[in-house]
Amino acid sequence: MALNHDPGLTTRASRVMARCDRLAACTEESGGITRSYGSAALVEAMVLVEGWMREAGIETRRDAVGNLLGRLPGPDPEAAALVLGSHLDSVRDAGRYDGPLGVLVALDAVAQVALSGRRQPVALEVAAFADEEGLRFHTAYLGSSGYVGSLDRALLELVDASSVSLRDACLAIGGDPETLSAGTPPPTALEGYVEVHIEQGPALERLGAPLAVVSAIAGQSRVGGTFTGEAGHAGTVPMDERHDALLGAAELALAAEALASAVPGLIATVGELDVFPGASNVIPGAVRFSLDVRAPDDRTRQTAVKTLHRRARAIAAQRGLDLSWQVVQGNPAVPMDATLSSRLEAAVDAVGFAVHHLPSGAGHDAVVLAQVCPVAMLFVRCTGGISHNPAEAVLAEDVAAALAVLDRFLAAPAEEGSRRERTTAT
Ligand SMILES: [Zn+2]
Repeated sequence: MALNHDPGLTTRASRVMARCDRLAACTEESGGITRSYGSAALVEAMVLVEGWMREAGIETRRDAVGNLLGRLPGPDPEAAALVLGSHLDSVRDAGRYDGPLGVLVALDAVAQVALSGRRQPVALEVAAFADEEGLRFHTAYLGSSGYVGSLDRALLELVDASSVSLRDACLAIGGDPETLSAGTPPPTALEGYVEVHIEQGPALERLGAPLAVVSAIAGQSRVGGTFTGEAGHAGTVPMDERHDALLGAAELALAAEALASAVPGLIATVGELDVFPGASNVIPGAVRFSLDVRAPDDRTRQTAVKTLHRRARAIAAQRGLDLSWQVVQGNPAVPMDATLSSRLEAAVDAVGFAVHHLPSGAGHDAVVLAQVCPVAMLFVRCTGGISHNPAEAVLAEDVAAALAVLDRFLAAPAEEGSRRERTTAT
């Protein structure tokens, strides 16, 4: 691969990897990586990234929710900004790449533009969002919601497990909760948002490819339900006279597996089962279950939920159980912007990789940015598809590939019509 022969990219990829390692040392729980919104560990990580931004000649600021933003100005102060970034917070006992990789690859690519002195048609903004995972306050996307002005001020009153309010956490991270308000547009017009993120799944490894352009972020339905049968003595009630609620739920879980395995793009999981009364010598009288259904297109997901509801009713009828079924959450899929994605595709192709497309089963900051501007995402292969786990890993050569694509992507507007200038990569 030609990339291997570009010592500049190899050096930059090593720097990104080393910085991910450095950020991994910013943690609120020793022996692992945990950085929640407002924590001293996140403050430390942001100060480091801010220093790297300044070193690269990028102007920095914090916004009301405490996001760290770095800007390379455009030709005039009114110019729209192209935003590149991801998040710096983490889940509990996290890996070191989910979030930071996207921030640091973006920072490195924008630093490269700063170094080149090349004139940009738009401002470039590197966003390091302060909360995506929602670990501390159980509200995902605090950072990006604050950035786009869609954060509900009522959330400031939320408290964490130690009764610290979100308002105080916001102050601790350098934010200004009093100026936070829903409906405040971003301080600048946004031309688009591009996020590099580890895949968090095994598809790229299976394809033997380092990168994929994301097609859509899957929509999600969550169902909460209960099968109610009849508890009884496990030793005395004959098998043909039972109304075992757990067997109903087990059958539903298998039906969800069978359906999702048969429909491309569909994912379904029964992740919670609460068995009542929950004793080894009692036939389960009731089982509360969760069902999580995701798909990159909404009709597929909605049809699947209806199909599984029908199936659950049939299982209940056959086993003499009662069924309750509530769809407790339904988030539509977020398609990526076709124009911005095609620019990413062109960049992937130009640096010499096959263009693959993958949907994202996980949510990302791009979900929120999509409310206000076109969004596109680039997935980077991760070892074993593992994420939200200390074993999270990426290859330096894949990071170099992502850097090469972002370089090309950022250079592309200035090179429209001169496709023959493509870098060679064979
Ligand atoms: Zn993430």
